[in-house]
Amino acid sequence: MSNEKQKLEPEFWKRKSLDDMSAAEWEAVCDGCGRCCLHKLEDVDTGQLVHTRVACHLLDIQACRCSNYERRLELVPDCMLLDTSRSTFHWLPASCAYRRLDEGRELEWWHPLVSGHRDSVHQAGISVREFALHEDAVHPEELDQCLAEWIDDD
Ligand code: SF4
Ligand code: SF4
Repeated sequence: MSNEKQKLEPEFWKRKSLDDMSAAEWEAVCDGCGRCCLHKLEDVDTGQLVHTRVACHLLDIQACRCSNYERRLELVPDCMLLDTSRSTFHWLPASCAYRRLDEGRELEWWHPLVSGHRDSVHQAGISVREFALHEDAVHPEELDQCLAEWIDDD
């Protein structure tokens, strides 16, 4: 990460759209929060998505990283592919850097690209490190009792 970051132009995300970013820039936009790897529930009437605290079994909760990123789509069929071919971000939490930029919002101070270090996303309480639950610890029918409690417009 640090080697890639040295090659990035300063504040490239302010001048480039997501569609115009290189692969390295695209990867750097991810803040490493892990929120997108939490199970979600969908309201059948409204289509609204809510995030639970329950993490995909491949998420390394302490690191907030996928433990098998290369094979994630094979191992977890409902893992949502997020790359430069993406067309929608509505399923991501409002704090997500891709969604923020897509909606014309700024990156917050805790984003590693702004703060200069990756721990800031944890220190700010944005990452799932402190509250995510392992998938194996929760019965699927009890997901609705484990909703995430973050403020969704942060
Ligand atoms: S929610 Fe967005 S910023 Fe956070 S880990 Fe997922 S893709 Fe990266
Ligand atoms: S497979 Fe990996 S990237 Fe996909 S949801 Fe699970 S932990 Fe996240």
